[in-house]
Amino acid sequence: MKVKYLFFGVLGFMFQNCTQSENASDQSKSPGFYTMDDFKKVEKYDTHAHINAFDTTFIQIAKEDNFRLLAVNVNPSSYPTVELQQDIAVKMVKTYPDQVAWATTFTVADWGTDKWLPQTLAYLKGSFENGAIGVKVWKNIGMELRDKDGKFVMINDPRFDPVIDYIEKSGKTLVGHLGEPKNAWLPVDQMTVSGDKGYFSKHPEYHMYLHPEYPSYEDQVNARDKMLEKHPNLRFVGVHLGSLEWSVDELAKRLDKFPNMAVDMAERICHLEYQSIKQREKVRDFIIKYQDRLIYATDDWVGPESNLEEMKKDIQETHISDWRFFVTDEEMQVPYFNDKIKGLKLPKEVIDKIYRKNAEKWFPGI
Ligand SMILES: [Zn+2]
Repeated sequence: MKVKYLFFGVLGFMFQNCTQSENASDQSKSPGFYTMDDFKKVEKYDTHAHINAFDTTFIQIAKEDNFRLLAVNVNPSSYPTVELQQDIAVKMVKTYPDQVAWATTFTVADWGTDKWLPQTLAYLKGSFENGAIGVKVWKNIGMELRDKDGKFVMINDPRFDPVIDYIEKSGKTLVGHLGEPKNAWLPVDQMTVSGDKGYFSKHPEYHMYLHPEYPSYEDQVNARDKMLEKHPNLRFVGVHLGSLEWSVDELAKRLDKFPNMAVDMAERICHLEYQSIKQREKVRDFIIKYQDRLIYATDDWVGPESNLEEMKKDIQETHISDWRFFVTDEEMQVPYFNDKIKGLKLPKEVIDKIYRKNAEKWFPGI
């Protein structure tokens, strides 16, 4: 009798579920899809933002669109000092604990001296005490930093090992922007997306086509891979699709090889869109297969001189365009190339992972 009741009980439960999904009244149990109307309702994270000003408009915009932010410190010469970035991040986390988390970074100013390692470890320790949940390394390693003999210093250099070990031991996530999009090694008119054309026209110092004596694209990717081979237990998030934005096949190979690696999509969703012009199903299948390893992010930033009105318009347009690409199957025109594309219409549970659950998994404490 008990078994029979259980059987009918399960049937009843299933029937109830089917009815609910047909009515779309219980979205969490439905295998369905989100719509454009759901954009503001769904809780989301942007795990790649740069807050370089005390003004809080940036955070209000995120709040309006239902995003929580990971503020990532980073060390380009055009940015405020890492100490000031840290002060801003700590203040924002204190003021908006439910809205902002932060990741620290370190400098290589004293690289090659005895001071560098102890200073770096002490700085990271201080950041962790101030709540940092991750550490960012940037492309200056591999593209700018050189030893006295002129040789470029790559991320798999053994002198970084004690720092990376310390990050791992502290349970923090290493966030890596290493190398550049493959477009950086092409002449501007051969680049695939307008964002890269614009960026590398403005930043010839990173336009590697102009610097054949620098490490190659493959050198950059290999150095990152070798670093990961040395640190198999390190939790690593490769930003900008791990600099493998041009090929979902190449990215899949790395995700297969390194189970502790995930990637953020900051500023590279256009490359998924570009690949989808000819291979929409392939890009969609890739995202579904690697749904636990892909994290939504923008690389949006605010500085003391930002035009706040323009910034708001840009950020919200990008949010909406990205959402349309991932959740609908509408035909779309994006500003990065001339071809039209069609949205990927990813299942709801995949959207929940790339916009929220993966951020929580790969950035504990966010
Ligand atoms: Zn960034």
